[in-house]
Amino acid sequence: MLKTKKLVMIPGPTPVVRSIQDQMGRETVAFGDPDFVADFAEVIGDLKTLWKCGGEAFVVAGSGTLAMEMAVANVAKRGENVLVCSNGFFGDRFIDLCERKGLNVDVLKARWGESITPENVAAQLARKDYQLVTVTHVETSTGVAAPVAEIAGAVHETSSALLIVDGVAATGGVEETIDPMGIDILLTCSQKAFGVAPGLAMLWAGQRAMEKRATLGRIPESYVDFDKWLPIMHNPAKYWGTPPINLIWALKESLRIMKEEGLEERYARHARQGALVDAAMEAIGFTVAARKPYRAPTLSVYLYPEGSGIDDVQFRTVLADEGVQSAGCLGDFQGKGFRMGHMGNIDRHTLVSAVGAVERACFKCGYRIEFGKALGVLQEGLARE
Ligand code: PMP
Repeated sequence: MLKTKKLVMIPGPTPVVRSIQDQMGRETVAFGDPDFVADFAEVIGDLKTLWKCGGEAFVVAGSGTLAMEMAVANVAKRGENVLVCSNGFFGDRFIDLCERKGLNVDVLKARWGESITPENVAAQLARKDYQLVTVTHVETSTGVAAPVAEIAGAVHETSSALLIVDGVAATGGVEETIDPMGIDILLTCSQKAFGVAPGLAMLWAGQRAMEKRATLGRIPESYVDFDKWLPIMHNPAKYWGTPPINLIWALKESLRIMKEEGLEERYARHARQGALVDAAMEAIGFTVAARKPYRAPTLSVYLYPEGSGIDDVQFRTVLADEGVQSAGCLGDFQGKGFRMGHMGNIDRHTLVSAVGAVERACFKCGYRIEFGKALGVLQEGLARE
């Protein structure tokens, strides 16, 4: 049988478009090559401009977790108090990370599918003095988008704590700005809404974050130290650690695509697409795990319909055979549904193919749906856009 093309519909890595692949396939040059130096400088400049950051932007080789570590390492020291706002698995990741750093960690945990609110944060900040607050913008285990702008407002109104936002499953697909929103550190990585292969950790630090870094002196960490990388980010002709040259070219192409689409339209497209795929899945009985109004535009957790008899592992295996790679659920939702990304540089063809494959997988797993029901909702929505 002819092999079906695999669509990477897990919540990251996301499909990489041809023009970005081409950048990764280029012949690698020396990191001091003047053309590459200019490209790297342009990338840093664009990141600052597009995310409205009057501070600094950093791009280093690593995954999203490294960016989380880099964020905490540069703005907190042993003995300080951190409030971790967790909406699930990746929010919780900050707990261990901060404890290892010797911080005193308190955690606000939302029920799975719900979000910590600005009111929760303000109430906790009124109880105790914190130097740092972390929040995960889009929680990849639940498909919940936290109200980041409002949480930032609550943090700055009620305390002098710095705010770290994990934008791994959000940045480039949901609006985030550094200075206007009052985000002190935003971190993300290349393989999600940027649509680049995994391998780049990216981070923005506002003025207040840089001031805090300056008070810390020599920090215990080396690779993630802002002080080591800042000279390179200001002038990429300098050396500290070898930059991932081809991935930086790929990021440059990703930013070009974003500028061509326009960030506002890109965010609006994600909102439209996310809502449409959710509606399509609901039309065939699936439940979106994230409660309204916290549904993320970038990815969703779809819980299997009650009484459908769908077996989780079988369903995801059949779906993969039908050409769509999805992810299993974590924590409270494990075995009860699957996770699908709808972010990055995915177009209408991809969305229609993905929902079509879900319909076939339902049928093959014995859950008899009316063919075209989910697709119909999606198609009509796309046609009316
Ligand atoms: N934060 C969030 C919200 C994530 O979704 C992920 C990865 N899925 C991470 C952090 C960790 O990123 P990485 O796997 O690239 O280390």
